[in-house]
Amino acid sequence: MKISKNYMDFVVEQVVNLCEIASPSGFTKKAESYLQDFFTKLGFENRISNKGSVIVELGGKGDPLALAAHIDTIGAMVRSIKDNGRLRFTKIGGYPGNNIEQENCVIHTRYGKEYSGTIQLTKPSTHVYKDIVKIERDDKNLEVVLDEVVNSKEDVEKIGIRTGDFISFDPRTVVTGSGYIKSRHLDDKASAGILLGFAKLVKEGKIELKRKTYLIFTGYEEVGHGGAAGIPKDIVEMISVDMGAVGDDLKTNEHTVSICAKDSVGPYDYDVTTSLIKIAEEKDLNFAVDIYPRYGSDVDVTLRSGFDIKHGLIGPGVYASHGYERTHLDGLENTLQLLIYYLGTSN
Ligand SMILES: [Zn+2]
Repeated sequence: MKISKNYMDFVVEQVVNLCEIASPSGFTKKAESYLQDFFTKLGFENRISNKGSVIVELGGKGDPLALAAHIDTIGAMVRSIKDNGRLRFTKIGGYPGNNIEQENCVIHTRYGKEYSGTIQLTKPSTHVYKDIVKIERDDKNLEVVLDEVVNSKEDVEKIGIRTGDFISFDPRTVVTGSGYIKSRHLDDKASAGILLGFAKLVKEGKIELKRKTYLIFTGYEEVGHGGAAGIPKDIVEMISVDMGAVGDDLKTNEHTVSICAKDSVGPYDYDVTTSLIKIAEEKDLNFAVDIYPRYGSDVDVTLRSGFDIKHGLIGPGVYASHGYERTHLDGLENTLQLLIYYLGTSN
């Protein structure tokens, strides 16, 4: 089934909207509300688990399955306020420090105030310091410079910033005329946007579900326990819809849907993975089967938490993951197509 331009435009719009909502792991309430509003307006029952996963029942009968994307992202938290009014931070999620150097950021205080700043080296000026290139980009040498007139710890405390406040990075989302989407946090907001498009297709009768289908949007994937709880008890299968990695010997790129056969935890379910590969082949999708030795997914965690389910992992290729990422409309479309062929009959 060819997905109409309207639907793909809708998916891109949702990806952009989601990227613009700050949601480092542990600070996902705004993204949760966005999703709950979305599904309520679309007419789907949804609920939120204690730990903040949004769970939606899309309909269908038999063989219950869940598609899971995560709405949390990498980010940071204020670790301490320095005597000179700069902030030391601690990372949320895994990424090298150079991926955020010189990025604009927002500090979200626990009382709802937001302040902007920039992540800088403590010795940032090439006109003053030599050997900048050799400085290790760690949390000692990188700091947050606030866009406020603050010169001491007391000044910063006076405006309400405290240890434990969340820090989000400017997503800098750009959609190019050639169909690329460049942004931070396409991992995994690209896939979350795809699932919103999938829900709209179901609602508007473009596809009929072959089996009972849930959508789950988790909030702690980047810190390793997103899929550990809040999963519907009746599911027999779960597919993480999460980014495909690009690089080295991998065949995935921004135009493909990636089908992961094995990640750092081990092989994905034989039947699910084989069936996904066969469908992608039969339907002539642009796809790649890859192995991700430095990657773990939400559904890995669900299995480890004791669920007896079959599991799979697919998603659009995302370049420069956990940095300033890039994907393409093609990757989104191929992923959505694969989900439609796997789970639905098109009308
Ligand atoms: Zn991810």
